[in-house]
Amino acid sequence: MNPQPLILRVAIEAPLADSFDYLPSLDPPPLPWQPGLRLLVPFGRGERVGVLLALTDHTSHPLDRLKRVVRVLDPEPLFAAADLKLLTWAATYYQQPIGAALFAALPARLRDPEPLTPDTLPGLHATAAGHALALDTLSRAPKQRALLAALQAAPEGMTLAALTAQLGELGGAVRALRTKGLIAETRLAAAVDPSEHQPPATGPTLHAEQQAAVSAIAANLDAFGVFLLDGVTGSGKTEVYIRLIEQVIAQGRQALVIVPEIGLTPQLRARFRTRVSGPIAVLHSALNTRERERNWLRAARGEAHLILGTRSAVLAPIPRLGLIMVDEEHDDSLKQQDGLRYSGRDLAIRRAQLVGCPVVLGSATPALETLRNAQLGRYQWLRLTERAGGAQPPQISLLDIRNQPLRAGLSPVLREHMQAELRAGHQILLFLNRRGYAPVLTCHACGWVGECPHCDARLTLHLSERRLWCHHCGWSCRQPERCPACQDEDVRMLGRGTERLEDELIALFPETRIARLDRDSTRRQGALGRVLDAVHTGETQILLGTQMLAKGHDFPNVTLVGILELDHTLYASDFRAAERTAQLIIQVAGRAGRAEHRGRVVLQTRHPEHPLLQSLLHAGYTGFAEAALRERAEAELPPYSHLALARAEAPDPAQALDFLRQARACGEALAGEIPAEIISGIQLLGPIPAPMERRAGRYRAQLLIQCAERPRLQRFLAHWLRAVRTLPRRNGLRWSLDVDPRDL
Ligand code: ADP
Ligand code: ZN
Ligand code: ZN
Repeated sequence: MNPQPLILRVAIEAPLADSFDYLPSLDPPPLPWQPGLRLLVPFGRGERVGVLLALTDHTSHPLDRLKRVVRVLDPEPLFAAADLKLLTWAATYYQQPIGAALFAALPARLRDPEPLTPDTLPGLHATAAGHALALDTLSRAPKQRALLAALQAAPEGMTLAALTAQLGELGGAVRALRTKGLIAETRLAAAVDPSEHQPPATGPTLHAEQQAAVSAIAANLDAFGVFLLDGVTGSGKTEVYIRLIEQVIAQGRQALVIVPEIGLTPQLRARFRTRVSGPIAVLHSALNTRERERNWLRAARGEAHLILGTRSAVLAPIPRLGLIMVDEEHDDSLKQQDGLRYSGRDLAIRRAQLVGCPVVLGSATPALETLRNAQLGRYQWLRLTERAGGAQPPQISLLDIRNQPLRAGLSPVLREHMQAELRAGHQILLFLNRRGYAPVLTCHACGWVGECPHCDARLTLHLSERRLWCHHCGWSCRQPERCPACQDEDVRMLGRGTERLEDELIALFPETRIARLDRDSTRRQGALGRVLDAVHTGETQILLGTQMLAKGHDFPNVTLVGILELDHTLYASDFRAAERTAQLIIQVAGRAGRAEHRGRVVLQTRHPEHPLLQSLLHAGYTGFAEAALRERAEAELPPYSHLALARAEAPDPAQALDFLRQARACGEALAGEIPAEIISGIQLLGPIPAPMERRAGRYRAQLLIQCAERPRLQRFLAHWLRAVRTLPRRNGLRWSLDVDPRDL
């Protein structure tokens, strides 16, 4: 009698393969074999981490060739069945091996055979003697006194990290108090944050539209449904999320909020902290690996009530998930641009469907595909048309700057407005979407222009560093004193970035306090917080910056927003350029006038007659979106068709194009092999060189695959990729497929 063998199907991060079969380890595992367990398995000549996907009794390999699992890594499965279902779906949809999806979901440390980080941190607590001691006894040792005071106020103790954050370096105070027997070491639950134990603050009374939105969603908490929360900036969308989160937590379930870039919005995090009861797990890439892992485990173990994170949080295991919210659902940073190229929003919708819970997409400027789904009734469309607290919407006007004498890029009219607002004690926001000092450095004698040696791109001068930087590949060199070509000294800086604008504004408004918000000015730890604080306290009078300004910040005293230059994006080639520009204008405009003062937005342009600007001005974002959707329909572009983009890059110029030509031929050759109904309706467009053909020393090309129906495109891709993967590849060629690409 031969008992059925137990075969373990395991996902490993390895190209091309879906899963691998293994036999159980000889040592019995600490618990029954369960999908979701992390395992160490032999692979090639070494060992790899894998995740158990399924138990089965058959394999397509000879049984005696199967290797045994080395050992089980964790005492519990990290993924539940529902998580594995989502990740399997994502892998299939984005045409990646399942290992790629699982490893995108795992925190970095757990992709290696590391044990789980213990859920405790070193800390201190006051002993009975320490609690009894009158603090005045320590008046001659202020640090000891402060430390003991903090611990007396925290009966469970505090982590060393929290103490240092509160008191600064502790120095010898710890040892001194310990020697006196007043405090002792302890270990504390890692993520315990004092605010978790505070009762949440109460929020404002909801206005009617908010109430209607909350009721509509709350009435459907037990079933899948997609809700578009289409609310102008400042209309109180976040408040709606908070009320729903309260209800979900009260039911004993977990809520997930996905935001585009959490590092940029410390205010949002702070707001959830004060309003939501219980543990919050924050997940984003700026955390250190252990913090991230701890928070991830708190989500996975069901401990965190709220998971607040960037796109990858949509992949985290959340066993009691009851509600998903995607804030700024239109934002491109919700899309992962390498590896598993997923859309955080689209996966959120799929996840809600698998779990059977609602998902809320919030935006003041919904993506055109989202609006289309709302129009078709697939999403329930909830509108917040007015600003909360009675604030007036900003008034947008176009300013024709042709033939205007500009100073610091500002027209006379805008300068007058600025003077008036400054006199009234208000704040001003200036938007210029280009960082650095000058985008072009050129020689007046011979015409030399500073270009990146590795990209088809110009170098940007960063004057404070005296360096030229390539914003595409990160290459840099020292600012030349003379022309590198002809040695002439007349090397000139053309154009303006935020660094230059700041210098010019200081000269133009000498009495005014000016601050800059861009990636350069906020690179240092804590710098972003300082810039934002100075705006909130009113210290900063003029804040200038790049699109970082548009990311959900709330500047209540800003009454004037100047948008300096957007003309170059009006004629960009990417079919999404108009949509992005409109969203950016509305989002930047939305920073103005949130409190009692009405905001004014001045948009400088040399193309005041441009249809995009005209429709935004006269019909708002909704009007713009209707016109833009009509154009998309005529051109059969998304959301009226579906796209996938194959990209290839190689060190030699023709190689990437050649490869994609062969890939295209593979697609055409499928005509006889797979059912005609899959092939018909598939269009292969290209290959063409990428918009910036050479980047980081590699030549890039792309091939577009277009189809009116998503399922057909999916089936075609699966067949086609099987063929493309067998194509011979010359050294150094890399290619990838992007399903639902954002950038063409
Ligand atoms: P959004 O997320 O739509 O930009 P927020 O939820 O951040 O809007 O709300 C904007 C501002 O209005 C915040 O300062 C918020 O505290 C306040 N607010 C929200 N809802 C109300 C309300 N019902 N009554 C008064 N103020 C509110
Ligand atoms: Zn020269
Ligand atoms: Zn470069």
